[in-house]
Amino acid sequence: MKHLAAVNKYFWKYKSRLIFGIIFIILSNYFRILSPQVSGYVVDKVTKAIKLKNGLPIVNKPRNINYDILVKQLINWVEDGNVSFGNTIVLSGITLLVLALLGGFFMFLMRQTIIVMSRHIEYDQKNEVYQHYQKLDIAFYKTHSTGDLMNRISEDIGRVRMYTGPAVMYVINLSATIAFSVYFMIKENAELTMYVLAPLPILTITIYTVNTIIHKKSEKIQSLLSGLTTTAQESYSGIRVIKSFVQEGAMMRFFKENSNLYKKNAIGLAKVEAIYFPSMALLIGVSTLLTISIGGWYHYSHHLPEVSAGTITEFVIYVNLLTFPVTALGWTASMIQRAAASQKRLNEFLQTVPTVSDNHCVPIPTINGDIEFNNVSFTYPHTGIKAITNFNLTIKEGQKVLIIGRTGSGKSTLAQLLLRFYNPSQGNIKIGGHPLISIPLSQLRNGISYVPQDVFLFSDTVSNNIGFGMASMPNQESIEQAAKFASIHNEIMNFDKQYETMIGERGVTLSGGQKQRIAIARSLIKNPEVVVFDDCLSAVDAKTESEIINNFYQYLENKTAIVITHRIFSTFRFDNIIVLDGGSIIEQGTHEDLIRLNGYYAELYRLQLTRNEPIEV
Ligand code: ADP
Ligand code: MG
Repeated sequence: MKHLAAVNKYFWKYKSRLIFGIIFIILSNYFRILSPQVSGYVVDKVTKAIKLKNGLPIVNKPRNINYDILVKQLINWVEDGNVSFGNTIVLSGITLLVLALLGGFFMFLMRQTIIVMSRHIEYDQKNEVYQHYQKLDIAFYKTHSTGDLMNRISEDIGRVRMYTGPAVMYVINLSATIAFSVYFMIKENAELTMYVLAPLPILTITIYTVNTIIHKKSEKIQSLLSGLTTTAQESYSGIRVIKSFVQEGAMMRFFKENSNLYKKNAIGLAKVEAIYFPSMALLIGVSTLLTISIGGWYHYSHHLPEVSAGTITEFVIYVNLLTFPVTALGWTASMIQRAAASQKRLNEFLQTVPTVSDNHCVPIPTINGDIEFNNVSFTYPHTGIKAITNFNLTIKEGQKVLIIGRTGSGKSTLAQLLLRFYNPSQGNIKIGGHPLISIPLSQLRNGISYVPQDVFLFSDTVSNNIGFGMASMPNQESIEQAAKFASIHNEIMNFDKQYETMIGERGVTLSGGQKQRIAIARSLIKNPEVVVFDDCLSAVDAKTESEIINNFYQYLENKTAIVITHRIFSTFRFDNIIVLDGGSIIEQGTHEDLIRLNGYYAELYRLQLTRNEPIEV
């Protein structure tokens, strides 16, 4: 329960709705609780009339002594005003109808306030969680699966909503119903009250127990279902692999097994549910039966002569009014338990402090392209892999630097350190003379255009993908300009709807090279001080590649550019070429320097010349 204290701030935020909700619940219950009394009065009135007619002795009950003030007034008015028997019955009927309408009306308002409040809280919580997701660093995402992240924002918050909405409503409703009905029941007859209420706790406990079983079973079913979905999903996306390895049969058997397990569990759940409702009805029936038999016995044995047919009627209706809230208590209890478990998970997550944050950073005047790596070392936190060792590099504003090295040599890690996705384990990085950790993340990342190795495009139009990083949508001209620099314009013009073509699942499927070039266009349009291209030309053919690189002369004239590759571009004059291996620099200099050095780079270059194509390291 203590975990749920975290949502109290929201109750406070929506306190007026909550207070009105409570008032409406009380009013709704108040009007509903009057109807047993009116019914009791009418039944007594009718029995009395029948007895009088048949000349039977009547027990004179003190008039309406135990009723609510409103009912009392109505009865006094009827009795003293000499309203005829028939009219009394009609009047009581109308009163019952009005009471039901009033009760219903306030119940409507109660749902309108409390359930609506819970939807507001759900919305706020989703935003809170989403905002936190955005703040968390890349390392967090590496250690949490997408499914886990999705669950928190949808399922867990959904469960907490069951607490802030229905559970809160039912608990208040139950308290009000119990308070009102037990008050009037005891006032009427304490002994009978005791007998009548005896089965209700059993009902609550039974429902709670059965509910827990149902919940466990449905949890199991849920996880089986998600396993089933994953299997199905994988076989759709991996269909080419499955077919080419002729594994359709094996996949089918695997799916069938999973599917069978799911079916068995689902049928098991249906059985428990089938017992649930009849047993509930049975217990409610027992309560009613007890009321009638014990009340009847009291009446006929003259043990308690004031227990009249009217009293019994009244009690039967009270019991029926009580059963729903008491039943609800059973599942409200398990609902609250589940909400607490979910909120616990949410709290744990919300308390995760990002290791990369800019809490005490103040914006610097401008980002310029002077970059310094001072003795930087970096070890990936959760794997312990040392990716960068004692790395030193100075890049002057406007320089174009090529970083080359085999896969796993630490090139991408360098780019990510520069964007401060991670903090270096040792040493420091400066940009424009300012340490990275003193620059607000938004300013730093706005100043650098980064095209990651694994480009990602959204399922949106080409132009929206290119304009993604801009504060406002850039005009068509600049979008096209960027696309031209990225050598993708002509291909876009051949698409059906050109720049308005949808990309991804909802639209055209792009080749790897096309995706990379759209991502490059997206980075160029930002017009930043520094560009970092992480191996983003790997899927582009040699001719287009040199076209793009040559555009750099024009587009990146005064900008600092870091191009990461595992192939050589000989046509572009890089100011400095870094050969990286095992996280350290093994060679550096201009193209001529490195050829003269006749080391690793020179050998690569010779290989490339003999094959007459860019060479992969
Ligand atoms: P490159 O880009 O040159 O291929 P990376 O910088 O991606 O190399 O990787 C350098 C080393 O760090 C490799 O040994 C790789 O396995 C490891 N590495 C890369 N990314 C991660 C990560 N997110 N978590 C743990 N280790 C990583
Ligand atoms: Mg890489």
